[in-house]
Amino acid sequence: MVDFAISTEDRMIQDTVRKFVDKELIPREREYIQRDIKGESGFLPLSELRQLQRLGKEAGIWGIDCPETYGGLNLSPFTQALINEELGRTFIKFRFGGTAPSVLYLVNDEQKKEYLLPYIAGERQGAFALSEPGGGSDARRPRTTAVKQGDEWVINGEKTWISLATDADFAVVFATTRAEDGTEGVSAFLVDRSLGWTATPIANMGFDGTSSLHFNNVRVPARYLIGEVNKAFNLAMLFIYRNRGYNLAPKNVGAATRLLAMALEHAENRTTFGKKLAERENIQFMITESEVELRAARLLAWHAAWQASEQQDFRYAACAAKYYAAQMSNRVVDRVMQIHGAMGFAKETGIERWYRDLRVERIYEGSDEINLAWMWKDLQSRRTEIGQM
Ligand SMILES: Cc1cc2nc3c(=O)[nH]c(=O)nc-3n(C[C@H](O)[C@H](O)[C@H](O)COP(=O)(O)OP(=O)(O)OC[C@H]3O[C@@H](n4cnc5c(N)ncnc54)[C@H](O)[C@@H]3O)c2cc1C
Repeated sequence: MVDFAISTEDRMIQDTVRKFVDKELIPREREYIQRDIKGESGFLPLSELRQLQRLGKEAGIWGIDCPETYGGLNLSPFTQALINEELGRTFIKFRFGGTAPSVLYLVNDEQKKEYLLPYIAGERQGAFALSEPGGGSDARRPRTTAVKQGDEWVINGEKTWISLATDADFAVVFATTRAEDGTEGVSAFLVDRSLGWTATPIANMGFDGTSSLHFNNVRVPARYLIGEVNKAFNLAMLFIYRNRGYNLAPKNVGAATRLLAMALEHAENRTTFGKKLAERENIQFMITESEVELRAARLLAWHAAWQASEQQDFRYAACAAKYYAAQMSNRVVDRVMQIHGAMGFAKETGIERWYRDLRVERIYEGSDEINLAWMWKDLQSRRTEIGQM
């Protein structure tokens, strides 16, 4: 039998995070809307992020994906999905402390001491640099190169749209390399900013700290190669599938939940032509249809997270969940704005902020088209059967 019940332990974690979001994050939204109106950054500065992370730690949430050896809770992907859905209920971009990008858990012991542990402690910031000006969707053969010279790798090239890079101390950089046997592939390096790369922030529709990174003969000691030469592309994809399946997909579900609650309340309070909006069938249908789509997206996200928790191949499920949830949240925010009329368009309600922020969900970590193309290949090769779950 299928069991949709969430375990008591997961319910407790979900409840703790929900209370944290309600108490610590949602009340800050007004202030961030005001900052945005004044033309200031609408994002949490690092100092405030760290302070909130300390509060999260006091509430018992720290290191959600981090092994216990490093002080984390090492929660299952499913539990992480529940947490991310709660975090998605606010546009304040917050992440609990004590975590690191998955690739950093896979580095060797020396590298862990230098990069993973300070990252977990919040002492160092890192970025994940895969995309390039010539290829975001197709990252299989980066134009950025790393050439071995003695005990060093010399990196040349440009990375772009790299999140959290503006203030990063180091970047995990993916570059094309040539192994001793002459074969080419993708390798990953831990590259300190002190080695000479530079970052140029990219002004955009609603994402903070995103930059282009420039590498001009940046010399990286050979000990900072991650894993083996030419074997890093799968590491990059592992990071991306995790993000698709149990980070971004549930966050979109959380966003839609909050937005629909706002729409329901507004429809019950706003009167036009002598009737509440909630009495109009088209408004009822907009909200109800959206709610059904939200449920569908949540089940897709849960399925991907459950497969990952069971250590099954969850890639198809992750693509499906990310694709559908991002489409869904964008449809929902559009309808919610429509239901609010001009007030949806005003900064004051926060809906226009959601409208801008959610748009990128259909572009990064595999665009809609890339997810569909990937799933199509899986279906056509019968690796995934139609409807197989
Ligand atoms: C806010 C933000 C943060 C980001 N953070 C990071 C980060 O931290 N690290 C990182 O490495 N990257 C990051 N990215 C980059 C992101 O992953 C890429 O933008 C994304 O993969 C799309 O690549 P592209 O922009 O080059 O578009 P392109 O690859 O040029 O694609 C353009 C359009 O064509 C479509 N398309 C492409 N190929 C096909 C095809 N075969 N069939 C059909 N349609 C196709 C795409 O879906 C898209 O609609 C970020 C991007 C944004 C916007």
